[in-house]
Order: sequence, then structure tokens, then C-alpha cells
Amino acid sequence: MTPYISIVIPVYNEEPNIQRLFTRLYPVMQEIGKPFEIIFTDDGSHDRSLEMLKKLAADHSEVRVVEFNGNFGQHMAIMAAFEISRGEIIITLDADLQNPPEEIPKLVAAVERGHDVVGTIRQQRQDSFFRKTASRLVNITTRKITGIKMSDYGCMLRAYHRNVVENINRCGESSTFIPALAQTFASNPGEIAVAHAERSEGESKYSFYKLIRLNFDLMTGFSVVPLQLFALMGIMTSIFAITFALFLLVRRFIVGAEVEGVFTLFAIMFFFLGITIFGIGIVGEYVGRIYQEVRRRPRYVVRKVHGAVNE
Ligand code: UDP
Ligand code: MG
Repeated sequence: MTPYISIVIPVYNEEPNIQRLFTRLYPVMQEIGKPFEIIFTDDGSHDRSLEMLKKLAADHSEVRVVEFNGNFGQHMAIMAAFEISRGEIIITLDADLQNPPEEIPKLVAAVERGHDVVGTIRQQRQDSFFRKTASRLVNITTRKITGIKMSDYGCMLRAYHRNVVENINRCGESSTFIPALAQTFASNPGEIAVAHAERSEGESKYSFYKLIRLNFDLMTGFSVVPLQLFALMGIMTSIFAITFALFLLVRRFIVGAEVEGVFTLFAIMFFFLGITIFGIGIVGEYVGRIYQEVRRRPRYVVRKVHGAVNE
């Protein structure tokens, strides 16, 4: 029987959470009373996660496991699961129980009401102050820059209609941000409020560096505004610099050459230098992306798919 709902869960070193998640998720899915499948992607875990997932797949015909060859990141893990998903409604979920599985029926209902992408807004978000502030900043700038309207980009508890997922599957992008990508294909996006819990066990799999990478992906992957903004800034600073030079020239004729101003000049020079380096960085970001795409390397490598359909 083809499943009606596909649950997609990326897993990276989540050994203590897998069983707990499954014992909460499985009854919720049975309760809905429609055929479903649960697809886990093991994103190259170093602990016993894969073993546990394989066991779940062996014990339950609804469970399938995509085994990655290494760590390709949360969004690639979701992509790989999307490719083999068959449900009419596809729901993504984190493995660390921060997204309560009990909220799934609400998402299903929202898709059935006609929304093709359903986002969630985390009520009383249970994360550190630093994470929340960073997240708020990212939400605001991303909304301004990409023009994609979403209240909460970070929450991965989301539902998609089959059509949207098919479109996502057609994109061969290798560094992407799925909620934003989905939003560009959505014709009737909706949002609902859901509960949010603290990470149940283990540590966040996002280091500071990974978080910055993700935000860069979001920003540069969905708009060229940073590039345009930078060009504009460059022109403006040049005009400013020319005016300043003229002023110094006139000043030289009236009061004579300045000596004390040397350090001011240094300051100004460093200011421009900073902008230049920043600009090179942004250009590099886009060039790097083009390089990645033209190489046409596989985005991820699946070693094996465990579970009913392929075995
Ligand atoms: N994850 C993954 N690959 C990675 C990093 C994370 O598959 O390289 C998974 C992780 O197992 C979890 C989800 O993505 O199911 C979200 O990760 P995490 O909870 O660490 O992120 P946070 O909640 O801190 O944003
Ligand atoms: Mg988490």
C-alpha cells in the first residue's frame, strides 16, 4: 500500500534519542489511521545510531533507513529521504525530540485544509539566549534580503505536499536550506504554532561554524542582494573618498598641509580596507558556490537503503 504520510528524520549521532523518539512517534502515526512510512537518514553517525535504526527497520515494515557514506549535513539528509519518499504529505522532524511528534496531526490537518507548505512557529522556544538572539537576527535579515516570508526559519517541524517535494527533488543544489527552497515552490503556504522542547539528550550538532555556514547558505543561496548591496556600497564609498580628497586639496591651499591628520587617514584607510576584504569575501562566497555546482559532484552518497521496499 502506498503511504499517505511520509515522516522524514535526519539523524546524526542521536543514539540516546532514537528509541525515545520512536516510541512517541509510532503511536501518533497509528492513531491517524492512514498508511504511513518513516524514513530515517543516518548522516554518517559515529555512534550506534545506524545499528538502532536498522533494527527499527527490521522490526517495522513502515520504517526505512537511508545509510549515508559520511556526514553530508542535515539538509542533504532530508533531501535523500525526500527522493525515496512516496507519501502525499511529507513531514520533516528533528531526531532530538525538540519537535514533539504529538503535533504531527495538526500539520496533517493543515495540509488537508489546502496548504501545500506548512511551517511552524515555536512557542516558548527552549534554546539558549545566544541561539535565540542569533536566530531572531537571522530571521529578520533573511526576510528582508530574500523576500521569503516565514516567521521562523529554524524550526524543522514542517509539512509539505507531494507537489512541492517533487519540485525540490528536481533541484540539484548542493548547499541549500530546505524551508526556504520549499517556500519558493509553495502556492499556498501556511503556518501553525507548535510546542518546542529542550533537546532531550546529547548536544546540538551545530557548532558555531556550522551555524554560520548555514546562514550563509540561506542568504547567498536565495538572493544576490548581498552582491548588489556591496556594489552600491562600493560606489558610495568611492564618491565619499573623492569628495574627501578634494576637501584635503582645498584645505592644503588655505591652511597648508596637515601633519596631525596622518592617523585619521590611517583610520579611513583601514575602513576602506575592511570594506574591500568584506567584498572579496562575498564575491568569493558566490564564486565558491558556482565552483561547487559546476563540478557536478554527487551531493551525497547513499551506501544502502534498509527497509521493506528495497530489500
Ligand atoms: N543533523 C544531521 N546532520 C548534521 C547535523 C544535524 O542529520 O550534520 C540532524 C540531527 O541529528 C537532528 C537535526 O539534524 O535530528 C537537528 O540537529 P540539532 O538538533 O543538532 O540542531 P539544533 O536543534 O541545535 O538546531
Ligand atoms: Mg535540536
